[in-house]
Amino acid sequence: MTRREDREPLSEEDLAEIAALPKVELHLHHEGAAPPAFIRGLAQEKSVNLSGVFRADGSYAYRDFVHFLNVYEAATQVLQTPRDYGRLTTALLEDCAANGVIYCETFLSPDFCGGGDLGAWREYLHAIREAAEAAERDMGVVLRGVVTCVRHFGPDRAKPAARCAAETAGNWIVGFGMGGDENRGELRDFMYAFDMAREAGLKLTTHAGEWRGPSEVRAAVEELRVARIGHGVRAIEDLALVDLLAETGVVLEVCPGSNVTLGVYPDLAAHPIARLRERGVKVTVSTDDPPFFHTNMRREYVSLAQTFGWDADTLRAVTRTAADAAFCNTDTRDRILKQLDTK
Ligand SMILES: [Zn+2]
Repeated sequence: MTRREDREPLSEEDLAEIAALPKVELHLHHEGAAPPAFIRGLAQEKSVNLSGVFRADGSYAYRDFVHFLNVYEAATQVLQTPRDYGRLTTALLEDCAANGVIYCETFLSPDFCGGGDLGAWREYLHAIREAAEAAERDMGVVLRGVVTCVRHFGPDRAKPAARCAAETAGNWIVGFGMGGDENRGELRDFMYAFDMAREAGLKLTTHAGEWRGPSEVRAAVEELRVARIGHGVRAIEDLALVDLLAETGVVLEVCPGSNVTLGVYPDLAAHPIARLRERGVKVTVSTDDPPFFHTNMRREYVSLAQTFGWDADTLRAVTRTAADAAFCNTDTRDRILKQLDTK
């Protein structure tokens, strides 16, 4: 391996090639991807007062992670109907396509889409899928959904979310997972919901190892038996666990810009993504909630190249790892892999 100081710096052309690479994104919260201007426009239409949600420059305003969750939930107040979610889907897929994303999965929460009611959830899902099909036709970006429960809403609300997921599982709803505040409750409290989703044939992921340490990542693997982990980066604090992740092939949905913005690491150079990859862990790259964290997929790829010297081939390999770890069916995956080969 080349030591960092021995590497040739990447040229402008190298960085332009990297920015233009086709990309696959696995960790994106549907509401968290809402462009601020879209949310402001909807608030105006509906006369919803969103004071405190935006800074003077129009970006989302929050102080820390818990406050971010509050602002996130406040912004989602304007998303009140299936039609609103259809419009949101179009807006976020425009951003994905503009960043070269050819396939993405978003986290969809029945708690935000119909309050956990199955009938309402089906209507939201219908509107989202219609918008996604139009975006695939018009912009060439493929979307699939991963239903999520919200950890700080507790295990009792995770069950109806899992039921919504199980009842709509198929070629479009392809996974089940959990987001929210990692410091609340224990992963094993959510086992019932995860088992219900697994029995319905859904693939599993959960946020873990962002705010809590390696034991949380181990619990995600051993207790919830997930195929992927949202973040998982603090596994680096326990090398035996890192080796377990490498051996079992559990995939990390790493969101470097999100981690740095929220202060999990002071800067990208201190971020463990490169060390995890060097030790054999399957890492992928995502944006989490891009407008909240002032990022997008192009910026993530370019920053990784500049910080760790990852060249276009390294980032192509990371993208392939993401395509292999996508929860979609084989036909869709083959189509994505073929597109990655030809670009
Ligand atoms: Zn997330």
